[in-house]
Amino acid sequence: MIDAIFLDRDGTINAERSDYVKSNREFVLLPGALEALGRLATLTVPIIIVTNQSAIGRGIVSRIEIDAIHDTMRSLVRAAGGRIDAVYLCPHHPEARCICRKPKPGLLLAAAADYQIDLTRCVLIGDSVTDLEAARAVGCQPLMVRTGRQAQALARLAEVDETVVLVDDLTEAVDLLCARLTAGVNVCEAK
Ligand SMILES: [Mg+2]
Ligand SMILES: [Zn+2]
Repeated sequence: MIDAIFLDRDGTINAERSDYVKSNREFVLLPGALEALGRLATLTVPIIIVTNQSAIGRGIVSRIEIDAIHDTMRSLVRAAGGRIDAVYLCPHHPEARCICRKPKPGLLLAAAADYQIDLTRCVLIGDSVTDLEAARAVGCQPLMVRTGRQAQALARLAEVDETVVLVDDLTEAVDLLCARLTAGVNVCEAK
């Protein structure tokens, strides 16, 4: 079994926007995401979002507005039978050189401390190279999806690095995870 499942937000659960997701109206779930989160919730482990929201640090959106988006996201997920147990976010501007903006693993470390979990027994589902790097920095198993803007970069990486697990979308990631857990496969062991 695993200790927790981490999920990136933009490009993994909802559509990415080059001008940032600033309101509920701009928060558009990716096809199949709600259903996938519903199935993920059948695993009895914490489901935790780890997301960079530099739009806050850039002064484009307020923390209150981002929290409102997350409240809506969590209600939508709950209504579909799923759950999001926590959201850890980095609000900082990239130039702030904080310890939490992915690819730094600060958000994962904070969650691990709060939930008393072993990150080497966790999976992170994300759509960008920074997710991959944050996961690897703490020995968490990354599982990458092609629904973000870095799909091509990830495909190139996967070609030269067979340990990069890349699937089409969150639906396929959850399928893979559930199938492996059901089969008793250690999903946290790099292949
Ligand atoms: Mg993303
Ligand atoms: Zn930060």
